[in-house]
Amino acid sequence: MKKFRPKLPGFLTGMKILLFNMFKTLSPLSPNPNVNYPFEKEIVAPRARGVIALDTDACTSCMLCARQCPDWCIYIEGHKELQPPAKPGGRERSRAVLDRFDIDYALCMYCGICVEVCPFDALFWTPEYEYSEYNMGDMLHDKNRLDQWLNTVPEVEGLES
Ligand code: SF4
Ligand code: SF4
Repeated sequence: MKKFRPKLPGFLTGMKILLFNMFKTLSPLSPNPNVNYPFEKEIVAPRARGVIALDTDACTSCMLCARQCPDWCIYIEGHKELQPPAKPGGRERSRAVLDRFDIDYALCMYCGICVEVCPFDALFWTPEYEYSEYNMGDMLHDKNRLDQWLNTVPEVEGLES
């Protein structure tokens, strides 16, 4: 026979869950999920989306990332330069030179589309998250700053066998 269990009204059920979780969190036996930032730094997952790094040597200023960015927060300018022919008598080659590559992190929503669509593997996620600013304008990272983030890109893990 099924046991009869009187149902608590909705708000009492909510209060029961709240009190249970409150005492569970405050209990000295439970692990503390908080980190005493900035004195301690949280160790985030290696594939966390912290900031985007740019490999300026790999970027061809093709503009694909800027066109796909839903927030329009990537600004690219470049020009073509003629290079001498590879062999004597050959044709001159044209090379793309990146003049400007900025990402405005005050607008970015960290969707990762730019990293996904880059056909030249010039953009990478890094788990670094310490780049908050007092001024909104300083959230615009230019190509030199984006290039410096390359140092924080984690090593690629091997494929699962
Ligand atoms: S992560 Fe998304 S919003 Fe941010 S720059 Fe890339 S495409 Fe734009
Ligand atoms: S980062 Fe990639 S997609 Fe964006 S302009 Fe450079 S090469 Fe093109």
